[in-house]
Formats: sequence, C-alpha cells, structure tokens
Amino acid sequence: MNDCIFCKIINKELDSEIVHEDDICVAFKDIHPKSRVHLLVVPRKHIPTVADLEEGDEKIIGHLIKIAKDLAEKNACDSYKLLFNVGEAAGQIIFHVHLHMMGN
Ligand code: AMP
Ligand code: ZN
Repeated sequence: MNDCIFCKIINKELDSEIVHEDDICVAFKDIHPKSRVHLLVVPRKHIPTVADLEEGDEKIIGHLIKIAKDLAEKNACDSYKLLFNVGEAAGQIIFHVHLHMMGN
C-alpha cells in the first residue's frame, strides 16, 4: 500500500491536477487523457480492485459514481463513459480502485 501511486496523490506526496476532494474520494485529471475530459475518481480507502470490495464498500462506489456525474456536468460533457478496469487482463495498471470519467 505504501508504494501505491494513487495513495501518494491522495496524501499529496505526489503532484496531480486535483479537481475534487471530499471525505470519501479525490478526483484528478488522468495524466494520459483519452478524451477531452478524462478524470479519475478515487476512494481515499485503498482497495486494490473492484474484485476486493467488502460489505459496506458499495456506499463508496455509489459515491464515486455520483461525483463522476457531477464532474461531467461541471465540465459540460454531453455524454461520457464511466469505467472500472478490473484485473490486469482487462487493462488495470494501477491497483487502487478508480473510476474513469471520459467525456467529450
Ligand atoms: P487503469 O488502466 O484503469 O489502471 O488506469 C490507470 C490510469 O491512471 C491510466 O489511464 C493512466 O493514464 C493514469 N495514471 C497513471 N499515473 C498517473 C498519475 N501520476 N496521475 C494521473 N493519472 C495517472
Ligand atoms: Zn492506494
């Protein structure tokens, strides 16, 4: 967990362009954007993948989706994709749960 790049961003040990922060999550710009607006919404709790979710974590995931929707509106995204990559074979490279918000 100490080597987790997203924990470091959350703890401000590593720079990023943070666009939202609250008690449950932090959202920042993806360093390699794949759309006009590409944000990552990340829980403060270190959970490696969606496959590791525990009882009660559904509140966190619901919150991530609500924040992604708010950020899409704030950035005038008419339509957008919300994506969790789960596991290496699916393209997950950072093992700290994150919701991609990709909007045009
Ligand atoms: P995933 O493939 O779902 O694990 O997505 C990881 C995402 O994190 C990729 O889209 C990367 O471009 C992005 N990323 C990696 N390092 C950073 C960083 N330091 N700041 C912002 N985004 C990052
Ligand atoms: Zn982490």
